[in-house]
Amino acid sequence: MTARVLVLGGSFAGMTAALSIKSDLGDEVDVTVVSASDRFVFNPSLIWLPFGRRGRTDITFPLEPTFTKQGVRFVHGEASYVDPDHHRVETTEGTFDYDYLVIATGYRNDLDVVPGMRDTPTITTLHDAERTYDAWRRFLDEPGDVVIGATQRASCFGAAYEFLFNTSYQLRRAGLHGKVKLTYVTSEPFAGHFGIDGMPGAKPLMRMFAKKEGITVEPNQSIQEIKPDTVVLSDGRELPYKFAMIVPPFRGQDFLAKTPDLVDAGNYVKVRPTYQSEKWDDVYAVGIAAAVPVPWTTQVATGIPKTGFPSEQQAHIAAENIVAQVRGEEPTSAKEFGKIPALCVMDAGNNGVAMVADHMLPPRKAAVMVPGPQNHAFKIGFEKYSLAKMKAGKVKLP
Ligand SMILES: Cc1cc2nc3c(=O)[nH]c(=O)nc-3n(C[C@H](O)[C@H](O)[C@H](O)COP(=O)(O)OP(=O)(O)OC[C@H]3O[C@@H](n4cnc5c(N)ncnc54)[C@H](O)[C@@H]3O)c2cc1C
Repeated sequence: MTARVLVLGGSFAGMTAALSIKSDLGDEVDVTVVSASDRFVFNPSLIWLPFGRRGRTDITFPLEPTFTKQGVRFVHGEASYVDPDHHRVETTEGTFDYDYLVIATGYRNDLDVVPGMRDTPTITTLHDAERTYDAWRRFLDEPGDVVIGATQRASCFGAAYEFLFNTSYQLRRAGLHGKVKLTYVTSEPFAGHFGIDGMPGAKPLMRMFAKKEGITVEPNQSIQEIKPDTVVLSDGRELPYKFAMIVPPFRGQDFLAKTPDLVDAGNYVKVRPTYQSEKWDDVYAVGIAAAVPVPWTTQVATGIPKTGFPSEQQAHIAAENIVAQVRGEEPTSAKEFGKIPALCVMDAGNNGVAMVADHMLPPRKAAVMVPGPQNHAFKIGFEKYSLAKMKAGKVKLP
């Protein structure tokens, strides 16, 4: 009998898992992807939208043609309940039965983290980044101080840093550099922690970058409230602003919490190193949807950034294991999140930093940060390559 694989989510992780499984098993498998978004969004480029350097059509493409070309059925819909005991998922487009399920439904913003966060510009979704474009235009008409930050429990620090340094670059282009105060507020214990306990040389490098750009850094901060013109810190200090961009924490999708024993307190699916769920052998979770416990405590709570590279690696591991299971073999492919290599380029407008390490999380044997203007060109190349690769469905390319 043909095995039925159901994948929820059509982004980095879902697309990689679905197309890898189909490519390996061909006619032995029916693969269906159900995704709330009918477009692939290249999130790493959201940092450029508010400054008009990219628009939605530059960084998205429709999912259906890519999946159809590869023999995968695409359904534009939202999953609402997973019933692992009956191998069934309810969605807005009907109920789907499966033999193997891959949950790749990623994150949603946790906008209740701080009063005022709902009305504050951010860049963590396409819609948010487009709204922040409007806020930046208003700021250019009536400039003043700027606050960029990441709240308590935030995890997407790379995007916060990229936006911070791009803001500094844009202030210079607008003739405002040095005339307005630029402050970075973060829950990280130090600038350069990045939610991954730092990298060798990260602390002095970030200090040097901040000094060169005239940025005031406020680490170890939790935010009490964001008013329309002031960020209020938990220690009572007030940071007035004319423009602010704040990164909130993420959560897994709410519908997953309706299934007992599936998720942790953040609605992330509890997984084994094989990316099978802790409880069910035929339910997998990959990418941001998969739980990663934070192995350290910081004065102010911080999360761990789950970036694109590990999301795709997890999807490949899950795909290999599903292929093995369909063939009647044991699922043996396994690598916990912390041991997946780190590969990241942080853009700074016309400069940047490349970060490479053998492991996402310490202990690491090899880790290096390379600053320089070539990284801006590298990030653009990475964007063009990734979009072309995903659109062509060539998920097995590096
Ligand atoms: C601003 C920003 C900048 C970033 N920059 C970088 C970077 O420079 N480098 C890097 O490596 N990573 C970066 N990342 C991280 C990267 O975007 C993530 O690692 C990646 O998006 C994770 O992919 P995913 O498939 O796990 O989840 P997501 O991208 O969150 O995708 C989830 C998918 O599930 C769908 N979905 C949600 N709910 C449902 C539902 N109920 N039913 C069905 N489908 C559903 C969504 O529509 C979406 O298609 C950045 C992230 C952000 C937000």
